[in-house]
Amino acid sequence: MDRTEDPRKAVLDRHRRGLVQLYTGNGKGKTTAAFGQALRALGQGYRVCIIQFMKGRKYGEYLAAEKHLPNLTVHLAGLDSFVMRDNPAPIDIELARRGLEIALEAITSGAYDMIILDEINVAVDFKLLALDDVVSLVKTKPPALDMVLTGRYAPQALIDLADTVSEMREVRHHYQAGVKERAGIEY
Ligand code: ATP
Ligand code: MG
Repeated sequence: MDRTEDPRKAVLDRHRRGLVQLYTGNGKGKTTAAFGQALRALGQGYRVCIIQFMKGRKYGEYLAAEKHLPNLTVHLAGLDSFVMRDNPAPIDIELARRGLEIALEAITSGAYDMIILDEINVAVDFKLLALDDVVSLVKTKPPALDMVLTGRYAPQALIDLADTVSEMREVRHHYQAGVKERAGIEY
């Protein structure tokens, strides 16, 4: 590889078509796949913004970004507690909506080449966010911007908007054998 090459060459290509990717399903690996995609993009000079819906704790990926990844911005748009599916607290709704506003600002600012909306499918399924608002958000995407949406229970309307849809299917999970969640694996 030519080391003098502009590291932002890939993102400065005006003719590049930004893609919408969606990772869903009940198996482990959606959020970590999205961060893997971010890492790959960062290496190619992208500026990446990740909004983590329904999360209020600094997971390992957040800590790594703070310490080591200056071109990766991570926002937490939730609390560090479970959201009740049929009865979400007003604060859960408020933080998710604030997350959507942050996403819109990030999309329109031109400051990022890739936007990742982690757990946004779940936020829609739990009715913290209106499906129509999320569909509109994805549709406001400038042509060159890349997006990744993650979370179980992806609504069909978001699946229909995506260029790539991957489903993590659970074959087995260590939780069923009694292995508790662990730093570095689950968070
Ligand atoms: P990861 O964050 O590890 O990539 P994920 O984003 O695919 O996983 P989520 O559906 O967001 O998983 O669930 C969050 C956490 O719940 C994960 O850290 C994961 O280890 C755990 N988890 C995922 N699938 C299962 C399962 N089938 N049973 C129990 N726990 C699970
Ligand atoms: Mg996840």
